[in-house]
Amino acid sequence: MGDEKLSRRQLLQGALAGLAAVPAAALIARDASAAEALLETDATAKSLGYVSDAGKVDAKANPTYKAGQNCSTCIQFGGKAGAADGPCNIFPGKLVKAKGWCKVWVLKPGAKPG
Ligand code: SF4
Repeated sequence: MGDEKLSRRQLLQGALAGLAAVPAAALIARDASAAEALLETDATAKSLGYVSDAGKVDAKANPTYKAGQNCSTCIQFGGKAGAADGPCNIFPGKLVKAKGWCKVWVLKPGAKPG
């Protein structure tokens, strides 16, 4: 009898633990799918002149661009030092290339362009 109650309790605890794990798994999956690479063809990216390689910035169309500027030194870049890409506050849910660039580039405090 006592063992049976314990088994039911254990089953219930297991079921609750399983239910608790579902939302966490869903959040992890959502985060992974949200971290997609920003495409240059994205409408907002186009309007801000985003390129995945700052070496390919059209300097005539973007007179504010100076050689050496790129996402890795931009105040909006949230990637880790040395990372190939990372999140950007201007493009939520997307990853921009560390060597990319767009028109709203602003030097991150303490960083040096180039
Ligand atoms: S805001 Fe900065 S980090 Fe974001 S895409 Fe433009 S240059 Fe790169």
